[in-house]
Amino acid sequence: MPHARPRPADPSTADARADARARLDAALRPFALGTHEGSAADDAGVALTERRVAAVARDAADAVLPLLGDPPRSAHRVRRLLRDVLTCTWGEFEATYAATLDALLALPPAHPDVEDPAWDAALPAAPAAPRAWQQGAGPWRAPIEGAATVGPAGTAGRVVRRGARAVLLTSDGRPVLVNVRCTCEPAAREARPAVLFEHVHLRRDGTILDVLAGTACGACRAVVP
Ligand SMILES: [Zn+2]
Repeated sequence: MPHARPRPADPSTADARADARARLDAALRPFALGTHEGSAADDAGVALTERRVAAVARDAADAVLPLLGDPPRSAHRVRRLLRDVLTCTWGEFEATYAATLDALLALPPAHPDVEDPAWDAALPAAPAAPRAWQQGAGPWRAPIEGAATVGPAGTAGRVVRRGARAVLLTSDGRPVLVNVRCTCEPAAREARPAVLFEHVHLRRDGTILDVLAGTACGACRAVVP
């Protein structure tokens, strides 16, 4: 077997690679930074709804696909690669962004016989209205545990946990793990219906401090990142 040794990089090829990377960077950076606006100060990560992440990934994929070469890459695979950089914490941003550029540039052409799923195929049908709770910010009182309600961000469900400072409601009325990230394989995750949830943090006076609205995995009950 011949010794597999990488050939020294041809300078013109290296230039072309740097060019491609710079063009990709220019197209992608506004989308990537856009989802981190306002979150840099606390480094708390990006609490976007699942649908908003998917919509930004769709738009960013449309912008970068023409830069990735011909035959075209799979829009579905590009969108999946983009998720990490749209949802990572600000502290992770530069490293994640660089890794995402590398992964996009290394993506092989799409298989011609495999059709991409629609950008919103895996999303729950009834998205929560993001940030609707910011208007009319009076005190919010959740009904008793187990009661049906609509959360401040618009999620219809049942109260799972009701404390003085935090309320958890989920679309199926069963608990979710709001501090754990789902690491299931996509197939395992998609085998069960996703669960919408809202984790509402309250101030002492009962007004809303923050709402984390998101989607939990139907298999492991952890948050879908
Ligand atoms: Zn899971």
